[in-house]
Amino acid sequence: MIYDCVSKIIKPAILEAKSYHVTDSKGFVKLDAMENPYGWPEKIKDEWSRCLLQANLNRYPDSKSCELKSKLTQAFKFPENTAMILGNGSDELIQIILMALNKKNNVVMAPEPSFVMYRLLSKMMELEFVGVPLNEDFSLDLSAMLESIDKEKPAVIFIARPNNPTGNVFLEESLIQIIKATTGLIVIDEAYHSFAQKSMMSCLHKYPNVLLMRTLSKLGLAGLRLGMLYGANEWISEFDKLRLPYNIGTVNQLSASFIIKNIGFLEQQAARIRDDREILFNNLSEIVGVQAWRSEANFILFRVPKPGADKVYKELINKNILIKNLHGSHSSLENCLRVTVGTPEENKLFLERLSEIVNA
Ligand SMILES: *Cc1c(COP(=O)(O)O)cnc(C)c1O
Repeated sequence: MIYDCVSKIIKPAILEAKSYHVTDSKGFVKLDAMENPYGWPEKIKDEWSRCLLQANLNRYPDSKSCELKSKLTQAFKFPENTAMILGNGSDELIQIILMALNKKNNVVMAPEPSFVMYRLLSKMMELEFVGVPLNEDFSLDLSAMLESIDKEKPAVIFIARPNNPTGNVFLEESLIQIIKATTGLIVIDEAYHSFAQKSMMSCLHKYPNVLLMRTLSKLGLAGLRLGMLYGANEWISEFDKLRLPYNIGTVNQLSASFIIKNIGFLEQQAARIRDDREILFNNLSEIVGVQAWRSEANFILFRVPKPGADKVYKELINKNILIKNLHGSHSSLENCLRVTVGTPEENKLFLERLSEIVNA
């Protein structure tokens, strides 16, 4: 009976949606979520915990995160005269952008396969979402993109660079053509910047409809939840109206400021992960029947032969290894899985178990 009431009151788009599923990972070798596998040196942890003693949790946080923003601007060398908004993870920023342009006839566009949140959040807001298929090698299909832009006149285009789950970096020249072709907003999502070390930051000044999104999650602070969106103040000030006034808590602001000051060790860990990614790629490619795609992120997409991705995924779980199964998520990802680059020991364990399964 209560369901009748719920279904009358809740929006159809929400009733139809599924909750975002996060697999229980306790006790697993966890290679499913692009986390940094390394912890913090004891010395850093001690300093951090002392730094947190400054927090006055009886007071509301600095609503504008002024100190943190100026530290981020310096650390990531963002151009001085752009504006910035911080989110509780970049997921929240995607949500804020979509809320701001949630009006009739606005279309959201992204190449696909790509980061699923662009589509999921659009759908929940009943915004029309157009996914433009990538080429078979996961490069951008420029002519299809330009054609779709011409036809749909998207209000916003999301481009993940490097792309998740494919790991490649779309050509800058193609993106410039897309930027020039659209009259809408373009959000370049550089969540994996630390691993690709390539940025479209130079576009911020040239093209006022380009915004750049980053996150600290993949660099090593997934638990902190801090996303950043940079660009022209005309855009950012509108989004800022939708941001809940205290979305970044005091502990998060202090922790992020602290870690920015000590960012060197995280950058070293990222360098380590980049090296291990190459080893993992070579080893994966050597398993007979496995096709792996070169990645500039901290994960690798690969396709398995028999017994197929669903079976491989389940058998890896039985062997205590958790990765991401992408089979069924998009037609071009048939029998594909995605593995996050872990520690050398974790990568070795994963490769051994995968070989056993594929060679059985
Ligand atoms: C992981 C990821 C994000 C979300 O990161 P959070 O800041 O943790 O919310 C955004 N974009 C892409 C492409 C990602 O892969």
